[in-house]
Amino acid sequence: MPRFASSAARSRGNIKIEPIGFASPKYDWREMHRWGISESNLPPGSAILFREPSIWEKYNWQIALIASVILIQGMLIGLLLDERRRRRLAEVESRQRLAELAHVNRYSAAGELTTSIAHELNQPLGSILTNTETAELMLKSCSPNLDELKEILADIRRDDQRASEVIRRLRSMLKKTPLEVRNVDLNETVGEAIGFLNALADGRRIALTYAPSASALGVKGDPVQLQQVILNLIINAIDAISEAGTKEREVSVTTALSGPSAEIRVADSGPGIAAGDLQSVFNPFFTTKPQGMGMGLAIVRTIVEAHRGKISAENKSSGGALFHDQAPGRALV
Ligand code: ADP
Repeated sequence: MPRFASSAARSRGNIKIEPIGFASPKYDWREMHRWGISESNLPPGSAILFREPSIWEKYNWQIALIASVILIQGMLIGLLLDERRRRRLAEVESRQRLAELAHVNRYSAAGELTTSIAHELNQPLGSILTNTETAELMLKSCSPNLDELKEILADIRRDDQRASEVIRRLRSMLKKTPLEVRNVDLNETVGEAIGFLNALADGRRIALTYAPSASALGVKGDPVQLQQVILNLIINAIDAISEAGTKEREVSVTTALSGPSAEIRVADSGPGIAAGDLQSVFNPFFTTKPQGMGMGLAIVRTIVEAHRGKISAENKSSGGALFHDQAPGRALV
């Protein structure tokens, strides 16, 4: 028996038992939240139970989807903004080109108008000379008529203003400016352009008539460029009549209110435009003239379109060409 007891005691002593460590402290996440205990304050190795999954853990794929949609949308918006910026730059560049081209075109029109301008300047200058000579003669007499002298001086002043006005118009026509949109009365603008062309038409024995609309035609536009449209159309009409040598020699310009738009019509009694050319006349470099450049009508169309208007050409049933352009956006003057 004791032998047995001692062997049992020996084998018990040999039993290897794994040392039992302390259980890791466990904490309830909800209570920690309730009492505002931060995880960093817990002893190392603490286990947190009943932890609620974070929004990311709960909805990870939905969040990833929304984030990627927002990212893609952001990229698209960025691309569109860049596109818009580039389009704006291209528009500004094309407007600058148009302004430069229009400027060159105005110089060439001014070349055609030299005789006309010289004539317009000669008239007041001639009157000034005559009036000055008359005044000198009157002053030589012993009792000069002061009232008459005053009238003569008023005439001199008026003629001088007329001459300055011609120079002012010429300078404003030739000045190099970018598109400058403002409220203008189209009737006045057209009238001023026609003022330049009267002498040219007279010189070629062509009746240039102008019938403005009864009331003012207010439009938003660049007056110098709108005048250029009229100059180019009328010079073409005068050229067409002169080249064809038609019996009837008339160019008529009218302005009217057509619905919400202001309309300008330039009609002539020339030979008209060949049916096959009606579509091409506005194309750059299209010309049937030996010395033509073919840029006049292309510039006209670009200017009209820059004013959000339309221009078209047709042949009148009575013969001759008719150009009409419409500028929308009538503004009250
Ligand atoms: P260019 O005057 O240098 O030829 P435009 O662009 O002003 O250039 O005109 C293009 C062409 O359109 C002219 O060559 C002419 O054939 C035609 N055209 C323009 N206006 C008229 C018109 N009033 N009557 C007949 N043909 C015209």
